[in-house]
Formats: sequence, C-alpha cells, structure tokens
Amino acid sequence: MLRILVAISTLMSVSAASNADPIDYFQIDGVTYDQTIPIPEDVLGFGVGDRPIRHDVMVAYLTALAESSDRIAVETIGYSHEQRPILFFTVTSPNNHARIDDIRQQHLAQLDPTTAAGNGPAIIWLNYGVHGAESAGMDAAIPTLYHLAAAQGAEIEETLANSVVLITAIFNPDGHSRRVNHVEAFGAEIPATDPDHEQHNLWTAARTNHYWFDLNRQWLLQTQPESQAWLTQWHRWKPQVSADFHEMGTAATFYFHPGEPLRRNPLIPERARELTEGIAQYHVRFLDSEARLYTSAEGFDNFYVGKGSTYPQVNGSLGILFEIGAARGGLIEADRGLVRHGENVRTHFRTGLTTIEGALAQRQAIADYQRQFFANSAAQAVRDSNRAYVFSAAGDPERLNMFVDLLNRHDITVNALTRNVRANGRDYQAGEALGVRLDQPQYTMIRSLFDRVTEFEENIFYDVSGWTLPLAYDLDYAPLGRAFAADLLGEVVTPREIGATPPQHSTYGYVLRWSDYYSPRSLYRLLDNEVRVRVATETITIPVTGGPRQFGAGSVFIPLVGQDVANDRIYELVAEAAREDGVAVFAVTSGSTPGNTPDLGDSRGFRSVNQPHILVLFDDGLTSYDAGEVWHQLDYRMHIPVTLRRKDEIGGLDWSRYTHLVIVGGGNTRLSDEHATRVSQWVREDGGVIIASRQAALMAQEVFLGVEPEDEDEDDAEDADEEGPDRRNYTNLPIDDAEHIIGGALFEGDLDPSHPIGFGYSDRFIALHRNIVETLEWPEDDPFAVVVQYANDPLLSGYASERRREEIGGTPAVIAQRMGRGAVILFADNPNFRATYRGNERMFMNAVFFSRLINPPSGEY
Ligand SMILES: [Zn+2]
Repeated sequence: MLRILVAISTLMSVSAASNADPIDYFQIDGVTYDQTIPIPEDVLGFGVGDRPIRHDVMVAYLTALAESSDRIAVETIGYSHEQRPILFFTVTSPNNHARIDDIRQQHLAQLDPTTAAGNGPAIIWLNYGVHGAESAGMDAAIPTLYHLAAAQGAEIEETLANSVVLITAIFNPDGHSRRVNHVEAFGAEIPATDPDHEQHNLWTAARTNHYWFDLNRQWLLQTQPESQAWLTQWHRWKPQVSADFHEMGTAATFYFHPGEPLRRNPLIPERARELTEGIAQYHVRFLDSEARLYTSAEGFDNFYVGKGSTYPQVNGSLGILFEIGAARGGLIEADRGLVRHGENVRTHFRTGLTTIEGALAQRQAIADYQRQFFANSAAQAVRDSNRAYVFSAAGDPERLNMFVDLLNRHDITVNALTRNVRANGRDYQAGEALGVRLDQPQYTMIRSLFDRVTEFEENIFYDVSGWTLPLAYDLDYAPLGRAFAADLLGEVVTPREIGATPPQHSTYGYVLRWSDYYSPRSLYRLLDNEVRVRVATETITIPVTGGPRQFGAGSVFIPLVGQDVANDRIYELVAEAAREDGVAVFAVTSGSTPGNTPDLGDSRGFRSVNQPHILVLFDDGLTSYDAGEVWHQLDYRMHIPVTLRRKDEIGGLDWSRYTHLVIVGGGNTRLSDEHATRVSQWVREDGGVIIASRQAALMAQEVFLGVEPEDEDEDDAEDADEEGPDRRNYTNLPIDDAEHIIGGALFEGDLDPSHPIGFGYSDRFIALHRNIVETLEWPEDDPFAVVVQYANDPLLSGYASERRREEIGGTPAVIAQRMGRGAVILFADNPNFRATYRGNERMFMNAVFFSRLINPPSGEY
C-alpha cells in the first residue's frame, strides 16, 4: 500500500506554493492520530489548502484512506456526465460496520410511527461539493475523513459507536475539475492575491455540471445522473441530519443555518429550526474560541425544496447549509483581510465535526423529531380533504413513465388505476392513468410536488417560488376527495424500461405518432439516415394494421416509395424508434384515408421536413444555464448534434451549414450590427430559422422583426403626476425591491394545437415557467402568429405581484413568424428550464422540426 502511495506522490510532486498546510494544522489539539493511516501529503505531494485538489487525486487518496481504515467503507454510487466516479463513504465503528445493513433497516423501520422507537446510531449526512467551483467544500472531505479514520481515544470511539456518518466527497466532479484545471493553469510560484487575477475567475462557470446545470436545484427535479446517484443513497438511509458545504462571495464571512426565520417553506415544522439552532451552538462555540466572524440569520432561505439544505427538511431531516467567503485561487485580498483557502477548508472541517457533535448531543430529540415528522404527516394525510391524486399523459406513455420515475426517486409509491374515474370534469382511464395515495409516509413530499401555492408570507425568494411538477410535466391531473375508494388504486407501478412494440412489416409505409416524448429523436434519426418523410399538418385517419386509426398533426409518415434507402433499412429505423425511443409506430396498409381527410399523397395534408443542423450560441452575455439546457435537450435527450459557438464569434461561419440558430436569454443578447445583418440575410434568403428565448426573444423581435418596444416611461411619468412622488422608509428597501421580481413561477397559457409549433399537444391548456418580467409585443399583421397566449389571470403557482400578473396576462408567450424564406420563433421565457418542463420542451422541438411548415398569411387583417 505504502509503496503505491509513494509512487503517486512522486508523480504529483510539483512545486509547492506557500499556502499549503501540513496535516497537523487540521489535527485537533489533544487528540492523538494513528500513524498507520496515510496523510494527505503522502499522496497529494502537497498539503491540503495549497490549491483545490484534483478529483482523480482526491479519489486516489480517499480510496487509500478507506482501505487503510476499518472505520470507513467506500463505494462508487454513480458517474458524472464526463464519466468521473462519485464516491460515497460510510463511516462508523468497526462493530457497527459488521451489521451495517441491519442498522440501516432498523433505522428505516422505526420511522413508521406505529412501531416502537429505535435506539440505533444517529444517521448523519455530509454533502461536499455540489457546486464545482466551491472547492473549500470538497477539500474539507479530506481532513474530515482523515480525522474520522485516524483520531484515537475514547471520544472518537464513542462518536463512531453512536453514529453512522455518510459522506459524498464530491457531488459534482465535472464542474470541480473544470475549476481546478483553471486554478492550476493560472497558478503561480508566488500567489497573486489581486482579485482581478484570472486564476480567481471561472467562479460561476464552474459552479455547474457538464451541461451547465446547477445541481443544487436538482434534489427535486432529478434530471441529472449526479443528483440521481446521491438521492438514491439519501433515501436508502433517510439521515436525521444533512449538512451541505458551500462557498459564497469573498466579501462575506461564514454562514450557517437555521437562517432567516420567515423564509421557511410552510411544509417545514417550526421544531426543525429549534433543533438546528441547538446544533448551531456547537459551531458558535468553536468559532468564538477563535474569534471568528459569522452569521446565521440572513440571506439564504428555506423555500425552494430542490436545494440540498431544504430538501431534507421536507423529508423529516434537519438540513444545514454552510457557506464560507471563498478564497478562490487559494489566497485573495478582501476588505476583511487576506482570505486563505486552507483556513476555509479547516472551518468547514471543524464545523462538520461540530455538526456531528451537536447532533449527538441532541441525539434522542432529533430521533424523536424525525419520527414525529412522519407521525404528523400521517395525521395530516388523514385530515386532508383529498385522498389521492390521479394523473395521465394523453398519447405519451413515456412522459408518464418519467413522472413515475421522478415520484419513485422521492420514495413516493405510485399505483395503477383499477377502473375509470371522473375527476374535475375529465375521465381518467384504467390502464392509462395512475394515482398516488396521500396516506403514505411521503405525504409532505407529495404535497410539495403537487400543491399550487400562490399566497406567501414574504416575497423575497432566493430561487423559484413555484414548481408544481404535474403542471411542469403537462399532465392531466386531479385530486380525488369523495370520488376516492381504497380499491380504486391497485398494483404498485415502477418505471419501466423505455420502449414500445415495433410495427409489423409494411409494403406501403409507416407512421410515427408525434405526441410521444422522444418522437423528435426518432425523426432526427430517420432524417440523419437520409430517409424522406412527410409530416401530417392536420389530424388524419390512416389505415394501419388492425384498422383505421386517428393520428394527430405532426405525425410522421414514411412512404416506402421514392426512397434512396432500402426497405429493410427503413424497417430497422422505425423498429428502433419503437424499441429505443418508445414511440408508437404503425404499419400503413393503404394510401387512401377514410372520411374527409387528406390521402397520404396529398401535398397540403403532408409536408416534407429536412434534417436540422443547429447552431447554439453561448457566453458573451448569454446565460449559461439556458444555453446548457438547450444543449442537454438536443444532445443528451434527443441525440441531435449541436454546434456550440460563443455569441460574439460568429463572423466567418459558413452559414450554409446551418438550418437553425438558437439564442437564449441573458444580460447581453445583442449581436453586432455586422453579425445581425448576416443572420438576417441567412433567414430571409437561405431559409434559416431563429429560435430565441427570454431577453433574446425581445431582442429578436426588435432587431429581426422590426417591432419597436412600447415606451413605458411615459406611463410611469403620468402615474407619478397623479399620485405624487413615491417616498418610502429605507428599512423596507429589500422587501420593496423584491416586490415585483418573479423568482420563478408557473403561468397559464392558451395553446393553439393546430399550429405547427403546437403539434403533438392534446389540449389548449399549458403551464409555462417564467422568471422574466418583460413581455413580448403583439406581432403586426399576422393574427396566426401567436401560438401561446398567457391567460388574463395567468398565475398558476408561485409568487408574482398583482402588477406583474396584470402586465403578463393576455400577452404572447410564444410567437412564430415567417421572415422571408425562413422563420423566427420567440419564447417569452425558457422552454427548457432545468430540463423539467416537458410541456414546453415539445414546443421547442417543434420549432426545430416544423418551423418551415408555417404558412404566412396573405389575407387582409
Ligand atoms: Zn454553493
């Protein structure tokens, strides 16, 4: 073992700068340490705190550490997008390790309020490094695991006997690696402490994962492999305390929960705050002993449940957020003096230990709280006027399947419907619709996923204020009150492997249903294999094996005639669409359609579409989250390659290569005049399609469509004249500032499913995510161009002031207009938000495939 370590250390031996701290800096006075446990310097070649530690090196050290200790077990719980392993450590006494699965199962069993209380070890979870750039969090895992492995004496023995500590050392290894590479690339012999030095940069860009997702919003949404890996472990254990270690801006000092009392999700019991405060006393004692600056009552809220410190709190655990003012590259100047990475690592390490200490000091009270949480949930479920929710996804079993997967990830049980039921004016069919009972242990979590909340005590939100997930998934859903009977919900449903039955062989052609979630992936694969397709522009009844069947607009007809591709190959491709994409595919038996609908040879009822070649702009003022979500949707989900290009570097491109240009929102969405002229020419003359969202949609409406934004300043001036000048007390500034911000809420839209951008939808109702206040102007001379319009009273869930609701009500949410030979598609907000708004993603995919099907109006309007 030791020889291997020395070999690594020789390889790693780079010149050590002056920030490094030897291990005794992290050792605790009065504690003796086992000399046989490897210390970080042996493996890293430098001490902790010199610079952020590379993921591969950390994996090497922590694996060696685990192997040398009978207190630590390590496993790989998943892989990041870039295939880096995510390591999970279980730390407890050797005796507990010998019966670790019994301990876990007894812990879970005693959460049932009808059973006797358990007296097993405290279950404590420490999250390190959900944000890739915040390296003090990751590096703190090293002294923490070292201390837990090597400390000797009665105190640590007792701690380990009484607890199981669960540690994810790096939640987000891809973002972390991006950051470390940058810090190393701009590293120097002599530390450059000037905050403007490039080494201290790449702060926000390395926060996120490979596709630029903020993983600390993904506890709830579960669209990324990293978050799926850790949440599986979280529910396997259901820890009583969950701590989450971060960095914040350098100017700030040190923050820990419980946080601002008012900014608490109403689903979190008040008692959680008292117990968290009890743990906080132990951080305070340590911090005071070193005369440190800290704060624990400001800034960070506990509202959005998708964060690592709030999610545990709607699941019966105590969630604790730690934030430390970042040292960035290792050593940086701040108003409060030099901020040093090693010291930050040590603070996170020591407060990790005080978290364990404080949790054990209140061990019984915290265990009681967790049991009481589930007992209260059960009691609330009994009192709830609703008994269950039913839901379905018309014509899209895969979207329903994804929702089942999401619910299961939150440990929520889903059941099949045993018979048809009618609720809120809609029929839910047995065999299609599913249900969740409210009387299950995850009652509180079900409420937080399904509730529509529009009334709030406070209007300051750190993140989104509304996230009702059945709306985001565009499901039909309804609560069941008196219509519920226990035998209505039958067998338990779990997510199935994606896939549908391939069609029979046809001698005429095949048809793909467009309402299926992954049909764009199938269509792209066909086009990429040079198969010619014809897309239905209206609802058509087509004779297929088994009889005539109705297909919605957007359905893809693949004739066997006129192809350069062999019939057998075409069959392989459509069978693949069924098997791998779960798309419903049918064998066509005749080109003659019954009734008054176009025959399959009709050139208006069926139009050809071409393979898209998509250019996606990023950076230079565009929001990386939004660009990453487009990249993820097209590449990861739909298997469509995209060309990523920095926004201000599009001069000299061969525009004949591209069919689509995607521009997302951000602080500066403007193209240079020269670039805008070229893009405009490409749209008008070459048939290019611009898809623009948020601020870019406003920009595109003005620059490419020539719509002047209305000048609102004049109205404001008139208001001021009528009401007199506005004067307020300074103390109200933060609240009043936030009043008209939309942190993120769901709004109702009315969608035209007969429009090509609306193909594949089953009804006109659509929920749209929105966190922008600006509204699109009405298009001129084209009354067909507004695909989605916000409802007059549009707020469905989340916070928006009355003024904002009035401003947004009735305005266009999605506009699709022809421009010369091309088209411009405008989304008022982001249709790919956090990869979660399935209803909106479909419109985005329609914009990719169907924009050139839009006919411009030629009448007088
Ligand atoms: Zn963070």
